[in-house]
Amino acid sequence: MEAGLAAVGVTSAEVLEPARSVLPLRRAAGLSATMQFTYRNPLRSTDPSQALVGARSMVVGLLDYRRGEPPRRPGASGRVARYARGDYYGQLAHGLAAIGAELQGLGWRSRVVADSNALVDRNAAWRAGLGWYGKNANILADGAGSWFVLGAVITDADLSPFDQPVVDGCGPCTVCLDACPTGALVGPGVLDARRCIAWLVQAAEPIPIEYREAVGDRIYGCDICQEVCPENRLVQRRQRPAQADSTDDAWVDVVWVLNADDQSLLQQFGRWYVANRDPDVIRRSALVVLGNTAHPDDPPIQPLLRRYLAHTNPLLRAHAVWAARRLGLGILTQRTAADPDPMVIAERAADVVDRFPLL
Ligand code: SF4
Repeated sequence: MEAGLAAVGVTSAEVLEPARSVLPLRRAAGLSATMQFTYRNPLRSTDPSQALVGARSMVVGLLDYRRGEPPRRPGASGRVARYARGDYYGQLAHGLAAIGAELQGLGWRSRVVADSNALVDRNAAWRAGLGWYGKNANILADGAGSWFVLGAVITDADLSPFDQPVVDGCGPCTVCLDACPTGALVGPGVLDARRCIAWLVQAAEPIPIEYREAVGDRIYGCDICQEVCPENRLVQRRQRPAQADSTDDAWVDVVWVLNADDQSLLQQFGRWYVANRDPDVIRRSALVVLGNTAHPDDPPIQPLLRRYLAHTNPLLRAHAVWAARRLGLGILTQRTAADPDPMVIAERAADVVDRFPLL
């Protein structure tokens, strides 16, 4: 396929519906949480001509990031969502740039848009006939599932659109809605970011206590609603990927994360979206994963928690209280008894299911 992409489609550069109508309504209902991205300015993100003046067409591309699953890393480990295990957006941008260069060679202008606030790429892919809007809010390509990153080349060339909509293939299936551990899929294709693990581990705020068990070992992203999708399972059965992700790309040593300095963290996870580029956001998520995956008798765990219970950042003290209690080490949190921070006080009062009640 063209430029290393799994599929391409062409559509006009007209305003993107239904996103133009739906985004403001979902934002007003609070479903976008503190997420910005294409919600920040729907008038812009749904109008390709704002990304390229005089735009007439879009070439929309999909890049496949489906790989085999590597073995789980032993010990306290965080799982990385598949799309973040490699530089797939970089590869996508490279493939789209090749198409853009061809257009420019013919005298047209073009702009590549990948992983950008400037375009609701799912809507563009849907209108370009590349797939249907799945109930899990991903684009499902006919016979190929949803393990794709999406992007577009916006151009002033007047290309013939090949944008016959793909017929909805979800039918009555609700497996993804039922499998979401936090109930974040509040309707077919409707995501409430306030509950979605993929957003909660990226956002700057505390991870809500009621969802921390559900976060499990996910330190970045969440693949559950794609993993359970029967379409994706069918693709997996039919066609096993030749290549597996490496364990080092798929799993993160959370003890390392909690010992690393700011620069090392930002360097190691430079591809991730980290709110405000604040490494404490990664440490906060790592504390939740630690609580859900570590064993309290592992030698580094208790000294690490003691250090975080005395951290200068109350966000981290608060999450350390939770992690300690989750690991049956509530005794360690006595040192926070006089902590005046409201977040820490709330953590001390919250119900936590202890994973090691008999220790
Ligand atoms: Fe639910 Fe995870 Fe899908 Fe978010 S990514 S909707 S938390 S299953």
